[in-house]
Amino acid sequence: MEVEDKTNDEIPENLKRLVRIMLRAFYSFEHCLIIDILIRNRCIKEEDLISLSKFDKKQLRAILATIKMEKILKSKTLAEPTPGAEADENGVVPKTKYLYYFINYRTTINIIKFKLHKMREKIESQERDNSNRASFICPMCKNTYTDLQVDQLLDPMSGKLFCCYCRTEVEEDASAGPKTDSRTVLAKFNTQIAPIYDALRETENIEFTPTMTDPFPSFVHYLHSDRDDDVFVGSDGRVTRKTDKQQNDDNWRGGAGRPGFSDDINIIIDHEDKVKETKVAKEQPSWLVNSTVVKKDEDYMADFETENTFKPVRLETEMEDIDDLLRTTEQPAIVKPKPVNPRAQKDPIEESSEDEFIDSEALTVQGKEYSYEDISEDPSLVEKMTEAEQNAYQEYMTQQMAYM
Ligand SMILES: [Zn+2]
Repeated sequence: MEVEDKTNDEIPENLKRLVRIMLRAFYSFEHCLIIDILIRNRCIKEEDLISLSKFDKKQLRAILATIKMEKILKSKTLAEPTPGAEADENGVVPKTKYLYYFINYRTTINIIKFKLHKMREKIESQERDNSNRASFICPMCKNTYTDLQVDQLLDPMSGKLFCCYCRTEVEEDASAGPKTDSRTVLAKFNTQIAPIYDALRETENIEFTPTMTDPFPSFVHYLHSDRDDDVFVGSDGRVTRKTDKQQNDDNWRGGAGRPGFSDDINIIIDHEDKVKETKVAKEQPSWLVNSTVVKKDEDYMADFETENTFKPVRLETEMEDIDDLLRTTEQPAIVKPKPVNPRAQKDPIEESSEDEFIDSEALTVQGKEYSYEDISEDPSLVEKMTEAEQNAYQEYMTQQMAYM
């Protein structure tokens, strides 16, 4: 039986529940399956995910592509000592890069809000269209009238409706189609989506710790309990087995396997939350009006410094992407491209220079890995690419453009 990963303890149950509900509402069965594994195992090696899900690598990546594009899923590459490899004469152990996946819970909350907002917007615009639609037509001059103009047409003596121009009696416009009451649709939407709204409200005041936004690799007991060569690179760059690790640098997760935060650690995500820690439920919940997370990186730093409770700090730049997305849909004219910088997300906690964070599959030129910046600074690299590499590069560019 699969043992649920202890690193998962710091993710609140209601947040996990929200992600599960959301996936079932908006995504395919395959996505639900993968996310379910990722909810149980906070940060999972691609090979382990393949073993658990029973998809092959190609299938898995195709499924992951959607949720990765929507920033629900994040990945990172970690270099780990190659299993079974011996150190060379200089004491250097050969390393292999592994791809890890984890759920980006913070972005997911915003994704859900965004989706619900768009759905509501669509229903409301349908409602507007309905009320502006012509419902009467003059058989003579073909003038059309909406429901709201009936007062101009009504002849109080006969009680009939006559055309303003030619005084012919107007007819109901059958071409306008059957009218669905959009208020019913909106009410139905509110009812059906209520569980997600409730779950969202419960997760409103969650404070995200650095390990919640960028977790350490999970140890999948179910797969590796009888294997000794599975190692993990700790936060200090030391290579340890999971069992050692939990005793040493596992403060964030609680050494005894409980969510063991000490009381003085207080991470402020939003100024509003700081002022009123316990929000009372209002008529119009504030998450409908405001995003829970709208802050500049400097503000994060300022908060952390004044609180002076712990360092280092993990900076999340990508939240702005979602806010940008929201803003872009409101005002399509002011679209400002953001510089794409996967390394900006590099975690300051990770002291080890071996650990490389990339947000997508590695870009290569003639088999050698390059970062996106390297390639964009040196266009000649693109010409040296093989056809497959150029395609991968194009695909990466297209994905990046999709977020702007
Ligand atoms: Zn007429």
